[in-house]
Amino acid sequence: MDFDLIVIGSGPGGYVTAIRASQLGLKTAIVERAELGGICLNWGCIPTKALLKSGEVYEQLSHLADYGLSSGGASFDFPKIIERSRGVAKKMEGGVAFLMKKHKIEVLFGVATLEKGAPAPKVTVALNAGGKRTITAKHVILATGARARTIPAIGLESDGDRVWTYRDALVPKACPKSLIVIGSGAIGIEFASFYRALGADVTVIEALDRILPVEDEEVSKAAHKAFEKRGLKFRVAAKVTKLSKSKTGVSVALEAGGKAETLIAEVAIVAVGITGNVENLGLEALGVTVDRGHVVTDGHGKTNVAGLYAIGDIAGPPWLAHKASHEGVHCVEHIAGLKPAGLTAPIPGCTYSNPQIASVGLTEAAAKAAGHEPKVGRFPFRVNGKAVAAGEIEGLVKTVFDGRTGALLGAHMIGHEVTEMIQGFVVAMTLEATEEDLMATVFAHPTMSEAMHESVLDAYGRALHI
Ligand code: NAD
Repeated sequence: MDFDLIVIGSGPGGYVTAIRASQLGLKTAIVERAELGGICLNWGCIPTKALLKSGEVYEQLSHLADYGLSSGGASFDFPKIIERSRGVAKKMEGGVAFLMKKHKIEVLFGVATLEKGAPAPKVTVALNAGGKRTITAKHVILATGARARTIPAIGLESDGDRVWTYRDALVPKACPKSLIVIGSGAIGIEFASFYRALGADVTVIEALDRILPVEDEEVSKAAHKAFEKRGLKFRVAAKVTKLSKSKTGVSVALEAGGKAETLIAEVAIVAVGITGNVENLGLEALGVTVDRGHVVTDGHGKTNVAGLYAIGDIAGPPWLAHKASHEGVHCVEHIAGLKPAGLTAPIPGCTYSNPQIASVGLTEAAAKAAGHEPKVGRFPFRVNGKAVAAGEIEGLVKTVFDGRTGALLGAHMIGHEVTEMIQGFVVAMTLEATEEDLMATVFAHPTMSEAMHESVLDAYGRALHI
C-alpha cells in the first residue's frame, strides 16, 4: 500500500478529513483536479462573502447621514470588487496548501478514477502536469463535492455570457443593469443581494410559494419584506418554463397562478440547486450504490464497496461546507478505530444576504409536524439597545421549544450579523440545553445577542423588554 488513506477532492470536506487523518497518524494523500479548497474556498462560500462585504459597505455609504456623517459621494469600481474577491479566494487556497505541507499530506493535482482493488479500490490519477500515476491505500474517501444543477431542456444552463451559474456570477466583466435570478435558495438570494446592493434591477423567481423555503415561515416572510424594501422584486409560486437568449439579454417565460408571463433582463443567474459530482469516477464499474446524484453511505460514511467512503456534498444533503468537514472528521475517526459519536449534531444554515438569515434545528411547522407541542418565543431587534445604537433594528430572533420537556428544538434569526449569533444556539442544542439552562445564562449588555435571551424568555411569557 502506498498510503493508509487517499482522499479525492480537497474542498472543506476533503482537506479537513486529510488533516484529521494525518493527526491520527495515517499516511495520507489527497487528489485535486483544480484548486485546493474546492468550490467553497474558490468559487463559493469565501469569494461570495468578499463580494457581499463590498456590497454591504457600499450600501452603508448611502446611509452615512443616519450616523451624522457625510463623504464625497459613493461610487464603485466593479473590476476591483471582483479582483478583491479573487484575491481573498487565492489567499485561502494558499492557506490550504500550507496546511497540506504542515501535515505532510501528499497532494496530487489531477483527475482521479477508481478501479477494483483490495482492501480498497485503486486510484489512478491523470496528472494535470501530464502522465498517470496509480496509487493504492487501505481506505479511499470520496469528497468530490457538487456542482450547479442545470435544466438544459428549458434553457437553464450556463453559457458564461447571458446565463450564469454561481461560477460565472463571481467573475463577470461588468455589473449587469438588470438581472433575473432563478431560485431563491441561499445561492440565489446571496447573489440577488449583492447585485441589488450595487444598484442592479433584480427579480428573483421562486417555484415554491415563498422565498428561502427551507427557513421558518415567519423568517422567510420577514426576509421577503426586508429585501423588497431594498428594491428586490420577487415572483413566488412561479415556475420558469423557458429561458431564451438574445443578443441583448435573456427572456424568461414563467407560469404563475395559471397565467403565462415573460420577463426580460440583461442576464439570468440559475440557482436551482446542486447535484453531486458522481460522474467519471468509475463508480458504476465498482457497483457503488448511487441514488439521485449522491453516493449512498451508512452512518459513518461507508459505501457498499469495501474500503470506499463518501462524505460531504457527494454523500447528499444538506449541501453545506461545515457538514462536509464534520462528516469527514467523523468518517476518518471511525476508520482509525476511534468511536466518534453518531452524526446527529445539529447543523446550522446561514444565508449571508443583507439582512442575514441563520437557523438551526426545527422550524415551528416542522416541530408541529414531528408531534411536538412547541412553545415559541420571539424578540425583535428594534427594541434591543445595541441594535438601535448601531442602526441595525431590522429582524428578529425566534426560538422553538418542546412544550413538554423544554428542549430547544430550533432557532431562527434574521438581522445584522445573525450568522455569527446563531452559533450560541448551536452550542446550546448540541449540549441539549433546555429553556431553564438558557434563561439562567447571562448575556452581555449591550449586545444584539440579548435578543436571543429575550426570545427564550418570551417563549415562557417572561420577556423583559416587550
Ligand atoms: P436550493 O435548493 O437551496 O434552492 C433552489 C431554489 O430554486 C428552491 O427554492 C427551488 O424551489 C427553486 N427552483 C427550482 N427550480 C425552479 C424553477 N424552474 N423555477 C423557479 N424556481 C425554481 O439551491 P441553491 O440556492 O442553488 O444552493 C445549493 C446548495 O448550496 C443548497 O443546499 C445551499 O444550502 C448550499 N449553499 C449554502 C450557502 C450558505 O450556507 N450560505 C450558500 C450557497 C449555497
